[in-house]
Amino acid sequence: MGYPRAYLYEKATGHFVPPPEVLYMHPLLWHRTGSAISSPHERYQDLDKLELSPTIGIFSLLDLEKQPGFRQGIQLSDDLKKTAKVVEAYRIGPDPIHCGLTCNRPHNRGYLISLIDGSHTNVGIDCGQAHFGASDFEGQVKALKEVERSNYQKSQINKLLDDIPNFRKQAHDLWHKAGPVNNALHNFRELYPPSLVEDLRNRSTRRQSSVHVTKRKGEKEKSSVDELAIDSQGQSRQRSESEFVQEYVGELRGLATFTQKPRTCLKLVQEMMEHVEQTSSHSLSPALLAKFAKFHENITKKLSETISLLEQSELFFNEKNFQLFKFMAEGQYLPDLERIEWNFDQNSGRKLSFGQLKRKRQRLAG
Ligand SMILES: [Zn+2]
Repeated sequence: MGYPRAYLYEKATGHFVPPPEVLYMHPLLWHRTGSAISSPHERYQDLDKLELSPTIGIFSLLDLEKQPGFRQGIQLSDDLKKTAKVVEAYRIGPDPIHCGLTCNRPHNRGYLISLIDGSHTNVGIDCGQAHFGASDFEGQVKALKEVERSNYQKSQINKLLDDIPNFRKQAHDLWHKAGPVNNALHNFRELYPPSLVEDLRNRSTRRQSSVHVTKRKGEKEKSSVDELAIDSQGQSRQRSESEFVQEYVGELRGLATFTQKPRTCLKLVQEMMEHVEQTSSHSLSPALLAKFAKFHENITKKLSETISLLEQSELFFNEKNFQLFKFMAEGQYLPDLERIEWNFDQNSGRKLSFGQLKRKRQRLAG
């Protein structure tokens, strides 16, 4: 598929701008519709909304008191220890409530307990652990936690299912926005010396945006450095003096463009959504539940990462940067961008002026 292979230099504004947007879509993405531009609404999904296990939801003493036959001041007995069933865990606060056993101790975390006659009471978390070993208290609590976790995971997945159309629309729009950036970066890598591209990638990893030049010291600089040559005790000392000095040249903007491509983020978003959509409710294992439960957060993160990468590339394709690239590649500073000459072909050593580059690009685009 033909698409423009270089960004354009706009003389009027002095900016490098991406070529006009082309409706080119990666074939790996959106492949299910078979068309280059997929509508976010033409999706099917096998996964139905998940049903949560019913819970009472206890948030106050009042909620406890509503339970059938709820009573407190219960005498602990061996029978009680063996037969009590843990119904639900609760966390009530900030004011503590009292234990349903005669200990009457205050607590914030405890359990609703059902007694053998169908009535209910409550125990604090400590009393529960201390007294109910015989009724497999730990096992019951573990099972409750299991239900709680699976309910949480299911609710996260339901939230995801609700938001997928919206996520898909965002991903779709961002994919189009990222097209010109993708092309511009691709062309940047082709047009600029590999050593500069490598340098930018390394700087992006190190978050090193300041550009310095190393210069051989003049006589004046040598003597001023001598005056400063003192150790931590303030004693002057001899040291082998460097012949070189670093000079600040400028600040690179939008370097994060080189950490990851916006479309790579979007592919991950797409993969997550497709995984969920292609899974049927019957084949949803506990492992998949746990995995999918994180997708809502992960997709949200990846989408905002994409937005920030696009903002960064907006900053990256900026005239000031290009002046620095020129400097970095050739070790000299020429503010006149019209006279930029890049070593286009390292093997032949052939140099192209920007005008030649532009014509070359136009041929490639046509
Ligand atoms: Zn107690």
